[in-house]
Amino acid sequence: MVEKRYYQKEIETMPVEDIKKLQSEKLVKQVKHVYENVPYYRDLMDKKGVSPDDIKGIEDLHKLPFLTKADLREAYPYGLLAKPLEECVRIQSTSGTTGKRVVAFYTQKDVDLWEDCCARAIVAAGGTKEDVCQVAYGYGLFTGGSGLHGGSHKVGCLTLPMSSGFTERQIQFMQDLGSTILCCTPSYAAYIGETLKEMGVSPDELSLKAGIFGAEPWTEEMRREIEKSLGIKAYDIYGLTETSGPGVSFECEEQSGMHINEDHFLAEIIDPETGEVLPEGSKGELVFTALDKEAFPLLRYRTRDICVLSRKPCSCGRTHIKMSKPMGRSDDMLIIRGVNVFPSQIESVLISEGYQPNYQIVVDRANNVDIFEVNVEMNADQFTDIVSEITSMEKTLAEAMKKVLGINPKVNLVAPKSIVRSEGKAVRVIDKRKLHD
Ligand code: ADP
Ligand code: ZN
Repeated sequence: MVEKRYYQKEIETMPVEDIKKLQSEKLVKQVKHVYENVPYYRDLMDKKGVSPDDIKGIEDLHKLPFLTKADLREAYPYGLLAKPLEECVRIQSTSGTTGKRVVAFYTQKDVDLWEDCCARAIVAAGGTKEDVCQVAYGYGLFTGGSGLHGGSHKVGCLTLPMSSGFTERQIQFMQDLGSTILCCTPSYAAYIGETLKEMGVSPDELSLKAGIFGAEPWTEEMRREIEKSLGIKAYDIYGLTETSGPGVSFECEEQSGMHINEDHFLAEIIDPETGEVLPEGSKGELVFTALDKEAFPLLRYRTRDICVLSRKPCSCGRTHIKMSKPMGRSDDMLIIRGVNVFPSQIESVLISEGYQPNYQIVVDRANNVDIFEVNVEMNADQFTDIVSEITSMEKTLAEAMKKVLGINPKVNLVAPKSIVRSEGKAVRVIDKRKLHD
């Protein structure tokens, strides 16, 4: 039997009852800290008629008000700060995928605990101090680079701080320095795989064994593609700037959901329409309460990510609750002709029909009717300039999509390499309807 590896075994395998007890103790303290130090949040609590004395444990969590991205934008930049600035050592910022960026602050302790979470993810993916860890997430304000960088140091890996981009150089270093672990967004991993092929480098010539990919939604189909093109096992990692960054949850060798670091983050699933807390196993919006964060300690923060939680025992021995891959944010969901469409559904169909995940969804409106088009790149083997063949391929793909989505897109097959590749988070949707509103 393979020896099980953990970064912080006692915490990662702690009995569930003990985790809950620990969470209760931390919650009581954290609510006091926030109430005393963040006037913005104190006002929200006062308005809801709840005081720190009402919170005696995690069973009282539901009494607290929610916090949303709109609150963060309103309180920008210092309105939710819970520690004096002189005790803060770092600022990071969201990617601004869905609007104005928000900033988050960290004390040294906050950075330290965040890096522990990333170290847990690296070890779960098989990382040890013998590994060479290539960090190809963007460095800078984005949390991907610095989070995995710090985690890699903690594990003791030889850390290659590549940042994203310069793909041929990434591959050159991968070969010369024998990188064994790659950390980047899944769309960038797919692009690296594609570039390898073009350079005529077989994955067998690399020493890579694992990848830690996150920061954007990706499907199981895409996982298999990446695993094949890079010759690795691909692990998912999840997080958001508001709760530190990547490492809020991560996959273990079972690759069946991500363990949430429950000693630091208390998770709930709510109905996104009503705010009602849903029982375990229900699909809904993920809400986090940060139990240890000092400088930017959000309580009941609505992530808008849609997923399911499960406490089913895991073969890896970790006891922390697992979240399913988020299928996309509630605000990624497109409503087209009255039907809910997630980009991830389109991605699944594309890959199972033999296309690469290079696509863009374009939605528009003319005469009060939604226009729904999907531009899909042909790969070099599929490429043809015979119009009738292209039309027939487009029709087949549109029919396959209709089966899954319930509505018919217009599929446009485009030439290889004509859709721009992503080095960070891919932009999958162009919704021109918003421009008309
Ligand atoms: P922004 O919200 O501007 O994109 P962040 O860089 O903080 O800023 O991104 C956090 C968001 O990225 C999450 O709320 C989630 O929607 C998405 N995300 C992060 N990791 C994953 C993952 N593994 N799978 C799906 N989505 C993810
Ligand atoms: Zn596990």
